[in-house]
Amino acid sequence: MSEYQIHVIDVKNNLQNYIWLLEHTTTHDVVVIDPTESQLVFDYCQQHQLNICQVWLTHWHKDHIGGVPDLLAKYPHLPVYGPRDELSKIPFISHPVHDEQTFSFHELEIEVIAVPGHTLGHIIYYTDFLESAFVGDCLFAMGCGRVFEGTYQQMFHSLNRIAALPEHTKLYCAHEYSLSNAKFALSIEPHNVALQERAEHIEYLRYLDKITLPTTIAEELETNPFLRAESHEEFARIRKLKDTA
Ligand SMILES: [Zn+2]
Repeated sequence: MSEYQIHVIDVKNNLQNYIWLLEHTTTHDVVVIDPTESQLVFDYCQQHQLNICQVWLTHWHKDHIGGVPDLLAKYPHLPVYGPRDELSKIPFISHPVHDEQTFSFHELEIEVIAVPGHTLGHIIYYTDFLESAFVGDCLFAMGCGRVFEGTYQQMFHSLNRIAALPEHTKLYCAHEYSLSNAKFALSIEPHNVALQERAEHIEYLRYLDKITLPTTIAEELETNPFLRAESHEEFARIRKLKDTA
């Protein structure tokens, strides 16, 4: 991690988005991931003297791409990476990427993993060197994204692809949904001790107005009912319960 640092901007909007930034600390070059809006990004980067070098987008939803037009107005040559399969919905992607494709940010090799379900083209960005993945709206702490475009089977498979990463991998989710997810998860697994302890800890962090992320694969395997489902049928049952909770 020495040459890299991950920052977060809390958008403090209704959807509780986080904008993650990945800095190469010797140059202060920075990647902006899923910029909900631009002004917070400009302000943050000016304050911390960061040079915006790349944008990575996980999927086409407005709260993940809303800031890109303004970023491009200021930096017309800024490389914007995003899902090839959502090019028609995100016309300003300059670097369309697809499953298993790799690209670089300084010495880091970034691997793209397709995780359809929340949207059909949803991708995540994984770096094994930093043991980190930026997972957008596919997986949340103790939760997962709604299945808007894909099938439950696709989403279940996508979550399992994330779960197959090394268990120390840190997951940088795009929303602060941990508290409500913990409550729902407890309704599914009331006797899960790890979940009970985590829910208490999350409640305390939120009481202090602190971020509850990143999470890790290991933590999710112990406490996330969507990852713990044993079949896509069971996953679908839990997901539908959550949608109507
Ligand atoms: Zn979304």
